[in-house]
Amino acid sequence: MSGHTDMILVDENGIRIDGRTVDQHRPFKIEAGVLNNADGSAYVEIGKNKILAAVYGPRECHPKHMQNPTKAIIQCKYNMQTFSVSDRKKPGPDRRSIEISKITAEALENVVLTELYPRASIDVYIEVLQANAGTRCAGLTAASVALADAGIPMRDIIPACAAGKADNKVLLDLNKEEDNFGQADVPIAIVPSTDEIVLLQMDGNMTRDELDKAISMAMGACHELYDVQKDALKRRYAKRVVEVETDE
Ligand code: ADP
Repeated sequence: MSGHTDMILVDENGIRIDGRTVDQHRPFKIEAGVLNNADGSAYVEIGKNKILAAVYGPRECHPKHMQNPTKAIIQCKYNMQTFSVSDRKKPGPDRRSIEISKITAEALENVVLTELYPRASIDVYIEVLQANAGTRCAGLTAASVALADAGIPMRDIIPACAAGKADNKVLLDLNKEEDNFGQADVPIAIVPSTDEIVLLQMDGNMTRDELDKAISMAMGACHELYDVQKDALKRRYAKRVVEVETDE
């Protein structure tokens, strides 16, 4: 955000560098149950972002001093692979990945029925294989599907999408150039059944009206993404039924 470029991010016809209009999101692709060895998993592509999420648990929480006697804790680890960006990323956790892990776990706590599993831990791993801006939203979207795939009781699943501002225009779902050289980025996650906002961050500057527009655009995209999440889970369920029937 706020880097300088001479590049025109949105032309006079309102067309962006990747050919999208201002209110168009990148293509969504979601697959549930992609890993055999995790309790639940999902693979998500949002434009050029490629993300894997794996869920283990609920299982006994270690170390024991982290246990909560009234509910399960959600432990989330967001990690960007060294090859996920064009310059090799230094491996291991950094401030950004610690922050994204924290906000992801906090968003998920709004929907997972953690009170059903006192003293347990639900562990969520998000691996960014390829990054092109919006990875925290794609990661949270993948984690929700992976939790549902693991059969963990939830009030709803969470879709997440960002909106922002570049070249003085409010844009949906910023790509890397718009994120780097734009004026604002607002990632949002919602509980679609209630339209409750469970993640809202803002980097950069916008007017109040622009922010309202960005939130409404991102929420609209979240509802579309929600349908794709549900379709992925339905396909996964249908595949499981076929597998059980062939085993019998
Ligand atoms: P998000 O991926 O949720 O939009 P940021 O706004 O922090 O989060 O990052 C925007 C984009 O910048 C990332 O998707 C990625 O493409 C790139 N990026 C982030 N961290 C690094 C890094 N350490 N090295 C290279 N590129 C990075």
